Amino acid sequence: MSDADCIFCRIVRGELPSKKAYEDDELIVFHDINPAAPVHLLMVPKEHFATLADARAEHERLLGKMLLLAPRLAREQGATNGFRVVANNGPDGGQEVYHLHLHVLGGPRPWKRL
Ligand code: AMP
Ligand code: ZN
Repeated sequence: MSDADCIFCRIVRGELPSKKAYEDDELIVFHDINPAAPVHLLMVPKEHFATLADARAEHERLLGKMLLLAPRLAREQGATNGFRVVANNGPDGGQEVYHLHLHVLGGPRPWKRL
């Protein structure tokens, strides 16, 4: 899918609405439209790349930054007792949107343990 049609690129460009929790020059974080937990954020790099398999050495710092930011945002959104970070990759990974993102899931546990 091209960047023009990509749902998350369209959110990054402001063409589609989102409930933002964080934004800087290289990253946007917004609430999942179909939450699977009381706190369900999506951390999305502004640059389009489809999956972790498409990430390159130049993305190392950005990916690290995302992981370091996750606990802060989870806590800010009220997940004070723990959270999960999930990245679905490819068809067998259950990925639906092919623009790399991390799910941050928190709040009391309604979901099945991995
Ligand atoms: P996945 O690609 O399987 O990791 O999941 C994609 C996630 O994006 C799903 O949890 C969807 O609910 C979520 N999603 C899809 N479209 C939107 C949207 N417009 N705003 C917020 N979340 C969305
Ligand atoms: Zn995209």
